Amino acid sequence: MSTADLPQALFEKVKQLHKEINQYNHQYYVLDQPSVPDAEYDRLMRELLSIEQEYPELKFLDSPSQKVGGQALKAFSQVTHQIPMLSLDNVFSSEEWAAFIKRIQDRLNSDKKLVICAEPKLDGLAVSLRYEKGFLVQAATRGDGSIGENITENIRTIKSIPLKLIGESGIDYPDVIEVRGEVFMPKASFERLNEMAIKKGEKSFANPRNAAAGSLRQLDSKVTAKRNLDFYAYGLGFVGELTVNNTLANEQVFLKNSHYQRLCQIKSLGLPMCPEVRLLDDQQQVQHFYQDILSKRDQLSYEIDGTVLKVDNILLQERLGFVARAPRWAMAYKFPAQEELTVIEDVEFQVGRTGAITPVARLKPVFVGGVTVSNATLHNQSEIERLGLKIGDTVIIRRAGDVIPQIVSVVLEKRTEDAKDVIFPQTCPVCDSKVSKVEGEAVLRCTAGLFCQAQRKEAIKHFASRKAHDVDGLGDKLVEQLVDEGLISTPADLFSLTEIDISTMDRMGLKSAKNLITSIDKAKHTTLAKFIYGLGIREVGEATAANLANYFYTLTAIRTASFEALQAVDDVGAIVAKNIVNFFKEEHNLAVVLALDAIMTWPDIVVKSADELPLADQTFVLTGTLSQMGRSEAKAALQLLGAKVSGSISAKTHFLVAGEKSGSKLIKAQDLGLAVLTEDDLVALLAKYN
Ligand code: NAD
Repeated sequence: MSTADLPQALFEKVKQLHKEINQYNHQYYVLDQPSVPDAEYDRLMRELLSIEQEYPELKFLDSPSQKVGGQALKAFSQVTHQIPMLSLDNVFSSEEWAAFIKRIQDRLNSDKKLVICAEPKLDGLAVSLRYEKGFLVQAATRGDGSIGENITENIRTIKSIPLKLIGESGIDYPDVIEVRGEVFMPKASFERLNEMAIKKGEKSFANPRNAAAGSLRQLDSKVTAKRNLDFYAYGLGFVGELTVNNTLANEQVFLKNSHYQRLCQIKSLGLPMCPEVRLLDDQQQVQHFYQDILSKRDQLSYEIDGTVLKVDNILLQERLGFVARAPRWAMAYKFPAQEELTVIEDVEFQVGRTGAITPVARLKPVFVGGVTVSNATLHNQSEIERLGLKIGDTVIIRRAGDVIPQIVSVVLEKRTEDAKDVIFPQTCPVCDSKVSKVEGEAVLRCTAGLFCQAQRKEAIKHFASRKAHDVDGLGDKLVEQLVDEGLISTPADLFSLTEIDISTMDRMGLKSAKNLITSIDKAKHTTLAKFIYGLGIREVGEATAANLANYFYTLTAIRTASFEALQAVDDVGAIVAKNIVNFFKEEHNLAVVLALDAIMTWPDIVVKSADELPLADQTFVLTGTLSQMGRSEAKAALQLLGAKVSGSISAKTHFLVAGEKSGSKLIKAQDLGLAVLTEDDLVALLAKYN
């Protein structure tokens, strides 16, 4: 069939895909500023590939599917790669992976198991490092695969890349050896770089990959030197003059027939190799490797976006060869996208426990980071201004690990004419009372306190929450119904509820009502620290509440303490002290506190001697999942021994207790050289004093 016989619409579609993909390539590879998430780019590329597969006559020579990367920047001198630097094809599921293996086996005409070298897919940019007689003489970016940028001076600033290989040229390695690998920016350096950029009012980078590319392609290598880039080798390019001194030693030492062994050899020459690389005896183990690396992803100090799986046998690699832009013997098995495109359908305003009015974006539901997301907080007015966001906009949403979904940026190219500004309410959206904005704060607040239905509900939910009084059976929906029906309006009212009151609520029978009354009764016996925490005073979390209780001993002393006296307590600065004073000054708050004081009881605090507080002066931070005791329990146990448990790491931290799936805190602690304890270490430490 010629192109003339194909429907015009299909031809137009292909041209449109070319245009969009080329534009995104330019933004990504040349400007280091992508405007859409990778997932969107990958979707367009897949759409193009599937049309090209079905209608080969639509596979034009200038199709982006036939090209690697982007054009080299003219500002750099150019380097022609002796062997092209290719990209990788990608798969997203075990079925696609199995189909890939099947294709290889068919091509090799063998159904023998294939040994696979499995590597993390590092999210940086590919570089080629040419060593001659052991000295680094030239470094280049991948560019369009044939021609890259000469970035030798900048590469020389990367500490982990040796300027001279270990060993002797002609004996330990050939005279010319081109090592290929990925330059990347560690997560901690990326965060620091963006923090600095934001402070200075400069543009921040979208992700560590773009930051690495932007930092490496600097005309002034002094700038690159400050960016703390790193490198892992993952292959070889040109290797020459192997028979120097007429020995075959080089060939034997060097050209091992295993990709994995070659990587180990490159490592022995002094170049870093990623410690996560594994040799898998057969392709079945791939799924396990993939899951393992995915579960480690957040703990790794560098960003990855999947795994790269390579047929290990070099002779087989040579037999398989490559297609236009990728080898046939390797495949990127990518992780589910952490960034996606979606549309802001509306912005609504929620009133929180402390009256804070938070704009919340209602999104067109989108699958990102492994879950479907339909809401995202927009925090406050400044955030909306920073994003320049309007209702109807297409945005990039990011959900990484357990972090709540975030709107990263607006895709301005996709804005339509009917996009509407976000208008902040002049009065509270729940109770219509006045709203106010405290100077120096970005947040708008409803001034009605417990008179506001929303704040009532949130105050009661907080009071009943697990870390406060743990009222089993009192879910959010039930609290909302009880308040809406006018049965309760403060936490103190909970204690006058009857079984009959509760049993008339939705989905509540007499039995569950009875159980709830028992839990409410149980909540009467508490501790002073929990009582203070349960009041929901702004910025008084569990640790601060415990510090207040341990310092003042009684409720009366806390509620009558002066602004100055409060600041003598650990963790209590001027802002928290002001919040506490203001809380008890409000008459309706005080009435609730006194009513609760008449109902609830807690044991007197016994003053402990120094011997009983062996961890006094020691600051701990807890992170990750603690499977044996849970973080709250660990925190309470440490505090009983006098330790301070803080939420963030600083130079003042003495110990980080790192449970499973520890993320950025562990990286920061390692950066600061702090002592890191495992959960078992913690259990042993607590046992020593108990
Ligand atoms: P790629 O990043 O998907 O895969 C090839 C690259 O992987 C190699 O060049 C190398 O740099 C890297 N790599 C990392 N670890 C490796 C390892 N262990 N072994 C071998 N290579 C390894 O391909 P690409 O051609 O560089 O870029 C295409 C991808 O870039 C797209 O799939 C998309 O995700 C993204 N992209 C996004 C946009 C956008 O607008 N958001 C635009 C263009 C490209």
